[in-house]
Amino acid sequence: MASTSEMRAAWAPACDSGGMETISFGDAGARVTVDRLTVPIWRAVEAIFAKYRYTIRRSDTGAYNCRQITGGSGYSLHAYGIAVDVNWQSNPYGPNLVTNMPAGAIREIEALNVNGQPVVRWGGRYSGNKDAMHFEVIVPPTVAIRFQAPQEGLTVAEIDQLIDVIQRQGELTRQKLEASTNKIITAVQNQGKLTREKIEAQG
Ligand SMILES: [Zn+2]
Repeated sequence: MASTSEMRAAWAPACDSGGMETISFGDAGARVTVDRLTVPIWRAVEAIFAKYRYTIRRSDTGAYNCRQITGGSGYSLHAYGIAVDVNWQSNPYGPNLVTNMPAGAIREIEALNVNGQPVVRWGGRYSGNKDAMHFEVIVPPTVAIRFQAPQEGLTVAEIDQLIDVIQRQGELTRQKLEASTNKIITAVQNQGKLTREKIEAQG
């Protein structure tokens, strides 16, 4: 898994707001500014939170920030537009993990990948101080651009609908086949009758 310094090198320079894009994040009015190449990744994160009915608040959610890392030296990954903080009032930074994020959502976010390579790390897993609000991209741009959101499975209702369509299609096909078969039989019968009449006339 990529270290913070590797990510700094891969996404340099820091504080380059030109490569950023501001996107809506969740349906409660939050907006985040992130590196343009990471937008599909954050869209997938947003979709997972929506699936778990987890509201991303506008008042305490953010991303791009040209600043140094908390309690260390060097730029924060927020300065590269590859980190997003979600609902920091409920998911504070500190020695113990404090979070209101659904465990299932976290697991799905951590499962986002490019060919099996995870693309997002959650700050709640840090070995030192926990940063539960924090999500960061852990792949270089060359991998990030290959990210594709996972395809959701079909719901039971959608499967029922599909079966219905297939059955109706089958019924139509059967009716069409029957109609063509009848036409062919009639044609053959007529041909036979004509031939018989011809032979009789010649006879
Ligand atoms: Zn953060």
